[in-house]
Amino acid sequence: MRLVIIGAVAAGTSAAAKARRNNEEAEIVIYEKDNFISYSGCGMPYAIGGEVDSDDLTPRDSEFFKRKYNIHILTLHEVTSLNSKNKTLEIKNLSTGELFTDTYDKLIIATGASAIIPPIKGADGKHVFSLRNINDMNKIKEHIQVHQPKTAAIAGTGFIGLEVCENLKKLGIRVTLIEKLPQVTPGLDSDMAVYVKDYLIKNDIVVITDASVKEITQNSVILSDEREVQADMILLSTGVRPNTELAKMAGIELGIADAIKVDETMRTNIEDIYACGDCIEHYHVVTGKRVYRPLGSTANKTGRIAGDCITGGNLKFRGILGTGIFKIFDMVVAQTGLSEKEAKESGYDVAVCHNIKPNKAMYMGGKEMVIKGIADKKSGRLLGAQIIGYEGVDKRIDVFVTAITFKGKADDLFHLDLAYAPPFSTAKDPVMYTGMILD
Ligand code: FAD
Repeated sequence: MRLVIIGAVAAGTSAAAKARRNNEEAEIVIYEKDNFISYSGCGMPYAIGGEVDSDDLTPRDSEFFKRKYNIHILTLHEVTSLNSKNKTLEIKNLSTGELFTDTYDKLIIATGASAIIPPIKGADGKHVFSLRNINDMNKIKEHIQVHQPKTAAIAGTGFIGLEVCENLKKLGIRVTLIEKLPQVTPGLDSDMAVYVKDYLIKNDIVVITDASVKEITQNSVILSDEREVQADMILLSTGVRPNTELAKMAGIELGIADAIKVDETMRTNIEDIYACGDCIEHYHVVTGKRVYRPLGSTANKTGRIAGDCITGGNLKFRGILGTGIFKIFDMVVAQTGLSEKEAKESGYDVAVCHNIKPNKAMYMGGKEMVIKGIADKKSGRLLGAQIIGYEGVDKRIDVFVTAITFKGKADDLFHLDLAYAPPFSTAKDPVMYTGMILD
């Protein structure tokens, strides 16, 4: 069996490694148009800030995959077309310009996503960046080193924009955040997002909401309301779109946000073609509806499932909750499941509670966290949670993830036998209070 995979970051390499574990005989080839593979994109903001070494994000190369898994990865090779009837691919070697054809028995599309660059005048400037891959990161690092910018503007206040904001600030750069919505962190409900905005302002970040970038000049950005913001460098962090042109060309069905439709085994509508990672749509555990939430955690998982199923395994995808977590300076922000807004849009009669409790005994240095719990009034079923705090947020959000995944009700939270000793928690954990209030 000749298995060809397109894309060699999280999903593609995960698929290849699992396929190899299941099938020692298969020929496995991956085409990757970039020069970096299997890297930790999630660490890039911290490499920009100098907190981690860039080289630590790219620990594996083609040689590693050849040696460890007998997987052949060709970098700087772009797949330019796909014919699903003949089972052929056209490939361009980007180093030499050579064009050639390859064939497959089974194909996995793991082409990921690209940063959306809004059509803004001046967005092609050399001081304007997006951050999606290692080359983008290197360009940002080099610009900072060579030009030593004093000011930066970041358009978009999702987790990537905020993580980069923290790291630029740590380098001594004055940052202005620009968000076209009335609130920061669009994934949160507005009553939780205010905590993030206040904290950003306290940390000397200029936050502008309800405005978008209209034009970029050499040292400023002009906003939709005509205000001008000083900026020696600009990051456009306004979301991503799935790379699905090849799939579309081959007649593969696309779904929400033009991401590839797959079943629970990652199979597309075309025989012997599977897809995984940021180029596919997912379904939501709570609503069952199709959603597009590209994340590394899911890319690794769907890659493994694709690699398993294509080699005869029986792993099945069980959906997502859209769980996310990030930090900004010392503040940790996490959310899972439906927000209050999403729950209402999905037709639920929603019960909501907020509780503010320390993560551990105050005499052990406990720090308060705000938990917003969202449940269905009628059935009591938990629908979502959002947490903002400083310590222990990761542990609590994962308790909610588990409870929601297994269809827990709000009152179940009180009955969980959670671990307690003063250095770790309080006798009644903050999660249990959510159960008591929402009950
Ligand atoms: P990609 O990483 O997009 O890789 C796809 C690859 O396919 C690319 O290298 C591309 O060059 C290649 N390709 C595309 N088309 C072709 C073609 N025609 N021929 C050959 N090759 C092709 N996720 C989290 O869960 N937690 C985090 O904390 C987190 N932090 C992040 C921070 C940053 C700054 C960024 C940018 C992302 C972060 N993510 C995080 C998201 C995570 O990195 C992605 O979800 C993950 O990289 C997706 O992996 P993928 O393999 O599906 O796609």
